[in-house]
This record gives sequence, C-alpha cells and structure tokens, in this order.
Amino acid sequence: EQKESIFVKIKISREKTMGSIAMASNFMRRLEGKVALITGAASGIGESTARLFSKHGAKVLIADIQDDLGEEVCKDLGQSSASFVHCDVTKESDIETAVDTAVAKYGKLDIMYNNAGIAGIKKQSSLDCEKSEFEKIISVSLLGVFLGAKHAARVMIPNSHGSIITTASVCSSIGGCASHVYTSSKHGVVGLTRNIAVELGKYGIRVNCVSPHLVATPLAKDFFKLNDEECCNVYSHLKGVVLESEDVAEAALFLASDESKYVSGHNLLVDGGFTIMNSAFSIFNNLHSG
Ligand code: NAD
Repeated sequence: EQKESIFVKIKISREKTMGSIAMASNFMRRLEGKVALITGAASGIGESTARLFSKHGAKVLIADIQDDLGEEVCKDLGQSSASFVHCDVTKESDIETAVDTAVAKYGKLDIMYNNAGIAGIKKQSSLDCEKSEFEKIISVSLLGVFLGAKHAARVMIPNSHGSIITTASVCSSIGGCASHVYTSSKHGVVGLTRNIAVELGKYGIRVNCVSPHLVATPLAKDFFKLNDEECCNVYSHLKGVVLESEDVAEAALFLASDESKYVSGHNLLVDGGFTIMNSAFSIFNNLHSG
C-alpha cells in the first residue's frame, strides 16, 4: 500500500511538472497558431518584430519595398514560418494584395502590424518644408497606416477577433523631437488608432500603438546623422540601459498576444519615461548628486 502511494505521488508530481513545462512552453510561444502581417519588416523594428513573432510561433508575412532584405529575413526564419510580399503601403492595391496573400497562404489574419515609416529630410523650419515632402511622409506614416487598418479590418471582422498595431513614436505625444510632418503623422496615428479602436471594438478587434524613443535603425541614423554609438548616447531619462529594436518588438508582442486581451485604443510608450518629464526643470535634478 505504501509502495502504491509513492507511485501515486510520483505520478502526480510528474503530471505537475509536465503541466508546468506545457505552461512555460505556451508562454514561450505566445503567438502559437496566429498569423501576422508586418509592414516595413525588412529592417529595424519591423525585422526584429518578425523574428520575435516567428519565435513565438506565428506565421509571419513580411511586407516591404526592400525586396532583397525582406527575402533574406524570410530565408532566416524558414519557409514554413515566414514569407515575403512586396508592398508599398502608400498603394492601396499593394496593401489589399498583402492582406489577401496572408489569408490565402495561412488561412486568416490575426495580427496586422503597421510599422513601415520614413523620416524624410531634416528640414527644421516650417518655412523650408515643401508641400510635396509633407505629403510624401504623411502618405507612408499616416495614410499607409489607415490603409493597413482598413484592409486588416475587412478580413478580421468576419472572424470577430484581431489585433491591429501601429508603430507611432515619442513624437506622437510631444513636440520638438522631429520634423513638423513626422510629428504630425505620429500624432495622427494615435488619433486614428483611437477612432478605429472605437469602431472595431464591437467585433472583438483591438487597435493599439507602440511608441518608441530613439532606436539605432537606418531610419534614425539617417535622419539624425548619428552613428550607433551616438544613438546610444542620445538623451534618455532612464540611465544604464539602451533602447533596442528588440525591446520595441517585445512591446508589440504584448499587444499582439492574448496577454493584452483587454487593451485597446492604447499608445504604449517605450521611452524610459522620456515623454513624462522636462529634463531642464526638475526638482530632482540636484538630488543624490553626492
Ligand atoms: P527602418 O528604416 O529600419 O525600417 C523601416 C522599414 O520601412 C524599411 O524596411 C523600409 O523599407 C520600410 N518602408 C519605408 N517606406 C515604405 C513603404 N512605402 N511601404 C512599405 N515599406 C516601407 O526604420 P525603423 O526605425 O525600424 O522604423 C520603423 C517604424 O518605427 C517607423 O514607423 C518609424 O517612424 C518608427 N519609429 C522609429 C524610431 C527610431 O528611433 N528608429 C523611433 C520611433 C518610431
């Protein structure tokens, strides 16, 4: 009888262990069975997100205008979990095709990540900004986001679920960090996110933004004329850590996964507190200075 109870104990303990392993592996693969379309995924934040989503079990469709880079990312991730589609987010027909490709290839679309963006040229004064330059950036960073959300909603509504995410920026909530047009487009993206979240909530579709501080990607390095090291030394409120594209991908993973099932209309700032303080005037500036 004693022997039998030991066996029972071992069996229970083994079941518990197996349960914990299953739970841990579920946590490790937070997007198992999901299908994600990521624009601007050939480089920078989009590329890191494609890699992370794939690691977490999602099928990923990489959409970009840089075909060679996009194909390379896919090759790395493996043909069974990722594919590439050429997509210029300013062209509605390209977005439509990208969304339809996701559905044709993988059967559905669970996550639409509108990440593609450009910074444009560094003209600081409104007097120097050409109308055509303004329109060019808005068409990628705001119109492209709208088109992405529109076509994602088209295929998500019948399934009554989905997560639409956009990369905004710290420039979505403060002024003076980038050009007028970039700042306008990122503020616009937050308004659009809120409006679409209100419209699509009744279909169980969540709509959110992720807003990073400076990350050393080609976009930021070109715009600010900084090298990798200079990017790391850009003013940050939080000391001792450097923001990397993988950190932004982690925030997008949260918004894409069921862990954020009740989060919608939110702008998730990944900025180490940069936008909540005025670095020139703080009662804490001289504190702890020794
Ligand atoms: P990146 O240049 O590394 O990546 C941007 C990608 O978008 C590129 O692969 C590019 O080919 C693609 N792209 C550009 N125009 C496109 C179009 N018309 N259609 C499809 N794809 C297009 O830059 P990143 O920093 O990874 O930028 C990603 C997003 O993050 C952008 O929306 C950017 O505004 C935002 N962001 C970046 C930073 C930063 O410091 N790097 C900070 C805040 C927000």
